[in-house]
Amino acid sequence: MIFEPQFESMPRPRMRELQEQRLHDIVRYVYERVPFYREQFDAAGIRPDSVCSLDDLPRLPITRKTDLRDHYPFGLFAVPTSDVSRIHASSGTTGKPTVVGYTRKDLDLFARVVARCLAMAGAEPGMILHNSYGYGLFTGGLGLHAGGELLGMAVVPVSGGMTERQITLLTDFRPEVIASTPSYALTLAQEFHQRGILPEEISLRFAVLGAEPWTDSMRRQVDTSLGVQATNIYGLSEVIGPGVSNECVEARNGSHVNEDHFLPEVVDPATGETLPEGKEGVLVFTTLTKQALPLIRYWTGDIASLHSEPCRCGRTLARMSLIKGRTDDMLIVRGVNVYPSQVESVLGRMPELTPHYRIIVSREATLDSVEVQVEVTDDFFRIVGSEVLSDDIVETHQLLRQLRDRIAYLIKDSMGVSMQVTLVAPGTVPRSEGGKLQRVVDRRALR
Ligand code: ADP
Ligand code: ZN
Repeated sequence: MIFEPQFESMPRPRMRELQEQRLHDIVRYVYERVPFYREQFDAAGIRPDSVCSLDDLPRLPITRKTDLRDHYPFGLFAVPTSDVSRIHASSGTTGKPTVVGYTRKDLDLFARVVARCLAMAGAEPGMILHNSYGYGLFTGGLGLHAGGELLGMAVVPVSGGMTERQITLLTDFRPEVIASTPSYALTLAQEFHQRGILPEEISLRFAVLGAEPWTDSMRRQVDTSLGVQATNIYGLSEVIGPGVSNECVEARNGSHVNEDHFLPEVVDPATGETLPEGKEGVLVFTTLTKQALPLIRYWTGDIASLHSEPCRCGRTLARMSLIKGRTDDMLIVRGVNVYPSQVESVLGRMPELTPHYRIIVSREATLDSVEVQVEVTDDFFRIVGSEVLSDDIVETHQLLRQLRDRIAYLIKDSMGVSMQVTLVAPGTVPRSEGGKLQRVVDRRALR
C-alpha cells in the first residue's frame, strides 16, 4: 500500500516543480526568521528571491552540525519556543547532542513521513507494531510511534533493552511488524534461537531497521533468523528523525526519499561539489516544509548515492543506496580510507561466521594496526571445538587457520590494507542492548 500516492507516485517533472516552489519559499522563510541564515546569505551575496530552481542549490551555503552546536540550544530555530511543541536531541554518537525542535505542524509531518515509511516496509492498518526504538530524547521511539498510529496500527511502545521482556511480548502479542536497530534485531533473533523458537513460529513478517549502518548480508541474517522481510529506514534528527527514507518491500533496492519534504543532494566530501546521480558522496538535505528548524543544505556526513529510475512498487520518489558509513566513522588506516561496512561485507560472505564483529584500531610506534574480531557460528565452533581454549579460539586447527587467512586475504584484496583477523567463540563480542552499536574501538585516541 502507498500511504500518500499523490506525492509518492507523482510524475518526476511535477515533483521538481513542487520542490522548486518549496525551495523558493523556505529560502525566504529562513532569511526572514533565522539571523544565522540572513548573515550567511548576505555574506555570499544571495538574494533569497533569486533562488527559484534546483540549479541554484550549489550556490547556497552548507549547514553543518557545528553550526547547530555553535547556536546551542535553540539559536537556529525559526519560531519562538512558545510555538515549539516538542524538543528532541540527537543521540550524540559523535559528540555533544544537537537539539532539534518541532511545531505542531512539524509533528504532523513527522508522523506522515513515518507512516509512509512503514507502508513502504509492508506494514498495513490493523497490524501490530512492536517498537524497540528507544523512547526519550532520541527521535526513533516517538517517531515510529506516531507514524504507526497514523497508519492505523496498534503500537506497542516497548523501547530498547530488557530483551527478556521483549521476547515475552513478541511471543504473546504476536505483532506482524518490528522496528529496531539491525544489531538489536539480531540480538532478539539470537534469544529466540536459544529458546528453541523457530523463525516460522515467530509472528513477525516485516522488520523496519535503521539508525545505524548495515549491509545486505546482515539483512539476509535478519530475514532468515526472524522469518521477516527487513527493510532499511533512514533519518537523522536534524532533518526530522526516522522517516527521511525507507526501502519498499517490493524491491528492497534503495530507500525512497520523501523528497517532497527533504530535498536530497550528493556532494563530493573533499570539494563540496554536487555529484551526478549514481555517484557516491555525502548526503546533503534541505528541509522544504519544516517550520521550527528548517535547514538549508544540511551536511549529514553519511555516504550514499542517489538513483531515480522507476521502481516496481509504483513510487516515483528517488532512492538512496544503503549508507556505506559516515565520514566520522571512516577510519584512515595507514593512509587508506576504510569504512566498517566494507569489513562487514567481506565477513558477510563467509558461512562460518556470525554477523557479530568489532574492529579494534591501535597504534604501535607510528603505525596503525587494525584487528578484526569476529565470532564463528555455533556449528563451526562445534566442528573445531576440541581445539578451543577459554574464550578465544587458539588457532591451531587447520580449518581455523584457513578461514582466518581467507578473511585476511579478502580484506586486503578489497580494501588495500592488511588487518589482523581474530576468530572468537560464539557469544563473546558485545551485543546491542537496544541502542546504536559501536563496532569500532579506536585506541589511538587514548594514547
Ligand atoms: P547521531 O548523529 O547522534 O547518531 P541521530 O540519532 O540523529 O544522531 O542519528 C542519525 C544518524 O544515524 C545518521 O546521520 C546516520 O549516520 C545514522 N543512520 C540513521 N539511519 C541509518 C540507516 N538506515 N543506515 C545507516 N545509518 C543510519
Ligand atoms: Zn519502490
